[in-house]
Amino acid sequence: MKYPLSISKSVLLLGRHALLSVDDLLPQLKEALTKWQNDSLVWSYGGVEIVLTYRHNVFVEADSLECVSCGLLATHFAIEKVAATKRWPESWALNLYGTPHGKQTYFTQDHIVPKSKGGASDLTNLQVMCWPCNLEKGDSQ
Ligand SMILES: [Zn+2]
Repeated sequence: MKYPLSISKSVLLLGRHALLSVDDLLPQLKEALTKWQNDSLVWSYGGVEIVLTYRHNVFVEADSLECVSCGLLATHFAIEKVAATKRWPESWALNLYGTPHGKQTYFTQDHIVPKSKGGASDLTNLQVMCWPCNLEKGDSQ
């Protein structure tokens, strides 16, 4: 991948630290998230401080890590440096990817009932979706 890289409307990646298989990392992530409190959690992992956000709860609670829309399976996590946004300073993020045809595809959380229609931002209303399907869904609403 070429950096800087824009993976969504608001996320700009500056570089990559490590690549980890879903099978290896998921149990450790689940353990780390037992300390979740409200908005985010800093996780010391592999020598860096990773900022975990609510989508990580959605990932570990999903029955299977695949896109609910197209069925793409997530294969790995990447620890990546994220450029500063209004909400966060520059930080390390743990991003989830699938690799259809060797092409890295970013995974995100999707609101089943859209936020604009009063949908909650919690586990009852969030599901795992790949970014291309999320974009398509957004465009059709
Ligand atoms: Zn998809």
